[in-house]
Amino acid sequence: MQYEPVIGLEIHAELLTRSKMFCGCPVVDFTQAPPNSAVCPVCAGMPGTLPVVNRQAVELALRVALALQCQIAPVSLFARKNYFYPDLPKGYQISQYEYPLAQHGKLPIQTADGERLIRIRRVHLEEDTGKLTHVIGEKESYSLVDLNRAGVPLLEIVTEPDIHTLEELRAFAEGMRHLLRVLGVNSGDMEKGVIRFEANVSLRTVGSAELGTRVEIKNLNSFRALIRATAYQIEQQMAALQRGETIEQETLGWDDTSEMTFSQRSKEEAHDYRYFPEPDLPPLVVEHAWLERVAASLPELPFARLKRFQTQYGLSAEDAALLIAEYLIADYFEETVQAAPGVAPRMIASWITGELFAWLNQSGERLEEIKVSPAGLGELLRLVAQDEINLNTAKTVLSEMLRTGRTAGQIVAERGLKQISDADQIARWVARVLAENPQELKSYLSGKETLINWFFGQVMRLAGGRADPQQLRQELEKQLQSMKSNSS
Ligand code: ADP
Ligand code: ZN
Ligand code: MG
Repeated sequence: MQYEPVIGLEIHAELLTRSKMFCGCPVVDFTQAPPNSAVCPVCAGMPGTLPVVNRQAVELALRVALALQCQIAPVSLFARKNYFYPDLPKGYQISQYEYPLAQHGKLPIQTADGERLIRIRRVHLEEDTGKLTHVIGEKESYSLVDLNRAGVPLLEIVTEPDIHTLEELRAFAEGMRHLLRVLGVNSGDMEKGVIRFEANVSLRTVGSAELGTRVEIKNLNSFRALIRATAYQIEQQMAALQRGETIEQETLGWDDTSEMTFSQRSKEEAHDYRYFPEPDLPPLVVEHAWLERVAASLPELPFARLKRFQTQYGLSAEDAALLIAEYLIADYFEETVQAAPGVAPRMIASWITGELFAWLNQSGERLEEIKVSPAGLGELLRLVAQDEINLNTAKTVLSEMLRTGRTAGQIVAERGLKQISDADQIARWVARVLAENPQELKSYLSGKETLINWFFGQVMRLAGGRADPQQLRQELEKQLQSMKSNSS
């Protein structure tokens, strides 16, 4: 029997607001702020307190819902999800249940097999829990509770079970993270746990329309964990089905060190959250005018930009993806194209993904900090395109520009780097190198033709690196050719 994986994802993303979802406490970086330094009676779950919805959180959620082409509910409801856990001081989480903010969206992904749409089932708002630290000591063991994260706005995005390969899974997860960053709603810092995945995994016989029994793997905090855990489950289920066993519905955890899933609870032990509408909050109303304002403020979406970079600028899919991975870089590219009419955009892209990326890596500078503006890079590449300087010189000049902040024009003029394309001058250099190296010339004429590259290097050195390389090569070939005819 041939089986195919069926995967549905739940994504939890913290929203980049300044204050929490239902109170005025600041959202702090839990790696920096002292524990329980950003807590008030509302997020500590004191009786008698009342929540108030954070408007900015709703706005950020709307950005995501619009970008995912969802239908947005003009009125949605908050609900209480009841369960007891020490990181949840109220004893319930405020979430959305029957009436979520948005439904029926889609996110396009690109894989080697082409483009696919992954359907989004729903997008809703909720609040994060606190953080527990379990300390296991020799004499005593205990757990520490930090409520700084309790009440931080959280967006939950749930897909339809539309993902069928690990490649699609990766493309979707990375695409989602990229989208959230581009929309400015999430930092994308996965090490800090600001995006968490849950993978629902089942198998079905190829061609069957029915879904198999699924397991749910909780708390996958990195792409690596998401992919590994899913791959592991697919293998386990494949083996079980082949042994003639049936799959039990259960909730699993993932152990990063042993790289295995472990059972957290079976179907029988499943929680009954006793959802009911949150009585302390009015229905969430999204007025049309608000929605239109948010829609108008959206940036160009990653998938559209990726395509446009290929069609408008003739870039390869790889180069386009490298550039749009960071929108500041993509903007830098487009500004350079503007600043350098007559320079092929492909050439600009390859200078950015080559020389500029190398500099960013090596210097540790961020793009916002570098000393070369798009106009500055454009000026340099215009000099190359107009044959004023050759490629090697341009690389040297760029690295000096990056170090000193001086312009290409200044450096080229001061250091006399202008490319030399004077035919007589080049012919004289070639003749001189051939005359000064009789040994090598002899070897060349007796058949060691690769020596032409050595001669090329010698002439270029004599020319201080400034000779027009194409002209130099032609002249060198010409003189060698005529010697060959003379000697035979
Ligand atoms: P819950 O986890 O609260 O029970 P749902 O039943 O709505 O929620 O499903 C949650 C996720 O599981 C969704 O992403 C959905 O696409 C996915 N899913 C549901 N059934 C299956 C299945 N048989 N195989 C794989 N994924 C599934
Ligand atoms: Zn608070
Ligand atoms: Mg679930």
